[in-house]
Amino acid sequence: MTIRPDDMAAFKAVLDDKSWSTNADEIAPHLVEWRDRYQGRSPLLLKPDNTEAVARIVRVANDRHVPLVVQGGNTGLVGGGVPDAGGGEVLLSLKRMAAVRDDVSGDGFSLGVEAGVTLQAVQEMAKARDRLFPLSLASEGTATIGGAISTNAGGVHVLKYGTMRSLILGLEAVLPTGEIYHGLTRLHKDNTGYDLKSLLCGAEGTLGVVTAATLKLYPALHRHAVAFAGLKDVADAWHCWPICRWPVGTG
Ligand SMILES: Cc1cc2nc3c(=O)[nH]c(=O)nc-3n(C[C@H](O)[C@H](O)[C@H](O)COP(=O)(O)OP(=O)(O)OC[C@H]3O[C@@H](n4cnc5c(N)ncnc54)[C@H](O)[C@@H]3O)c2cc1C
Repeated sequence: MTIRPDDMAAFKAVLDDKSWSTNADEIAPHLVEWRDRYQGRSPLLLKPDNTEAVARIVRVANDRHVPLVVQGGNTGLVGGGVPDAGGGEVLLSLKRMAAVRDDVSGDGFSLGVEAGVTLQAVQEMAKARDRLFPLSLASEGTATIGGAISTNAGGVHVLKYGTMRSLILGLEAVLPTGEIYHGLTRLHKDNTGYDLKSLLCGAEGTLGVVTAATLKLYPALHRHAVAFAGLKDVADAWHCWPICRWPVGTG
């Protein structure tokens, strides 16, 4: 199966020239499955830089029944972001959506960014404001916030701070019909209606395209202490748990 020329033209018609590419050299790095399990294929790379353009793309895909594969940093390692259906899928990269939407406002413990911002950039922004964004994983220099949300990533601090789902206050996404879900709230307690952000988190692009998020920040850690605990058995570890959760610990 390949993409029909009129479908290709329909996507190009709703975008500016910088937002799509058919250049094989430019598309190639997006088609790599880093464990060499297979070679991805797609004749068209879409790379919008704003939410309205993502919505137009999704509307075309929905109207014409063309499958879209969403990609952030392509570090997922399970092939979810690599189109491989014989060249019949269009690749949608969010990497150009890398703006800061809401820079530490309100109580100073939230940060609004677009989906293509890397995890490391968010950590650095938080640090510059004397805050901590605790999600940390080996691919953080390349993995994007959209990818971390869509995989509900955990990382090395997961026991103390939880997975990505617990680090999101609000979310903006384009739903499969092309409608935009405007949920970029900063409220810590928001019990109005369905919790769509939690549903979209971990959906790996199957329920929509994440375009931006309001992230939860924590106070920066100024002191670190390392403790070594000798335990006589696994059950004994339970008694150490409250200590591990104490503010200076990393869990
Ligand atoms: C060395 C290494 C260590 C890792 N360590 C951990 C770890 O400790 N804990 C952990 O949980 N994970 C870990 N991961 C995997 C981790 O989930 C990914 O690295 C990261 O979260 C994916 O981000 P990405 O931007 O690269 O997404 P991609 O790989 O591009 O995409 C991942 C999935 O999300 C979808 N997707 C991407 N962006 C969007 C979007 N904007 N909207 C909707 N869907 C989207 C894709 O279609 C795909 O299904 C690790 C990966 C590597 C390579």
